[in-house]
Amino acid sequence: MTTRLYYDDPGLLAFEAVVVACEHEAGAWRVALDRSAFYPTSGGQAHDLGVLRAGDTVVPVQDVSADDTQVWHAVTAPLQIGDVVHGAVDGPRRRDARQQHSGQHILSASFDLIEARTQSVHLGEEVCTLDLHREVSAAECRHAEDHANTIVWDDRPVAIRYAEAADLASESRLRRPTTRTGPIRLIDIGGHDLSACGGTHVHRTGEVGSILVRGVERVRGGSRVTFVCGRKALESYRELRLVTDEAARSLSIGPALLARSIEKLRDDLKAEQRSRRLLADRLTAFEVAALDAQFTTVGETAVLVAHLGDADAGALRDAASTLTTVPGRLVTLLGGPAPHALAVARSADLVDIDAASLVREICAAHGGKGGGRADLAQAGGVGVSLDQLTAITTRTAR
Ligand SMILES: [Zn+2]
Repeated sequence: MTTRLYYDDPGLLAFEAVVVACEHEAGAWRVALDRSAFYPTSGGQAHDLGVLRAGDTVVPVQDVSADDTQVWHAVTAPLQIGDVVHGAVDGPRRRDARQQHSGQHILSASFDLIEARTQSVHLGEEVCTLDLHREVSAAECRHAEDHANTIVWDDRPVAIRYAEAADLASESRLRRPTTRTGPIRLIDIGGHDLSACGGTHVHRTGEVGSILVRGVERVRGGSRVTFVCGRKALESYRELRLVTDEAARSLSIGPALLARSIEKLRDDLKAEQRSRRLLADRLTAFEVAALDAQFTTVGETAVLVAHLGDADAGALRDAASTLTTVPGRLVTLLGGPAPHALAVARSADLVDIDAASLVREICAAHGGKGGGRADLAQAGGVGVSLDQLTAITTRTAR
């Protein structure tokens, strides 16, 4: 059985131990020691990283897991049973784990004070989340965050003690009941939180630094609170600062004016889009008026084939409809760059011509997709040239 050194000294990063097992499995090795300061993934907290040194051999520890008796260190090379090894735990990673985990206990206990109970916790690589049993407002969240930070800045002691499961029934301060049996490890955060937990915690709450709630969202009738602590809170601020500074610089304003400036830009853009639409409508009206003079006669039908450079599907449809309000006309219009938008329209009296089947015929020969009615049909993505379209349209009009 591995003696778990992190239980009683979560700040311990260097230790000496004896290899008691070394197993080979699927190209990798796992090693068990008589004692270890390496924390295995459990209770929502991720495993430590670090190295094991045996003489001149240094093997990185890539993963740490535990079963009922042993802590297993996944390593890249085998170690001899009986070897004395020096273990070194990755300090910054362990400190981060302690800051996030203790921060979570403190924040959960602060939410408890406003009757919002923590139902599950995730201590992630990037951010941590806790799921509350009820929805909390932004103001309630701010209140809990403020309270939690006060506990941090009080620099209260964090005590580790053990109790028998049977004795815990009478412990009213325990935040969540535990189903564990045997001796239970308790983390007592300076009278603020008492929890059964096997994780690595700070010695004093001040080491958490600060607790920053990054967001709250509704999840299954409750709330999911995303937060970061300690160094991650500082990094989160820096990241946000970088983004806002860059955005403010691009607008040549101070960060405080960012929201108001973006609102103004949005309003300006809307006004511009409105006036652009009006201008486009007027331009189309001119183009349609000019096209009115360009019909040629094929048999008894007035035919027009044209390419409107800038026109989108809507403008094409409007132009084709307008041009065919006069009897006896067949109009085929292309719009935009190739592959083009296409509109086909005929006047109401030309019942022998079916615009929809003409569009289908053009698409079958030149690509594109579309459809419509007998008097007006459209397509997009058509690879037809103006000459090819003229030939098809003329043939149809005869
Ligand atoms: Zn915990």
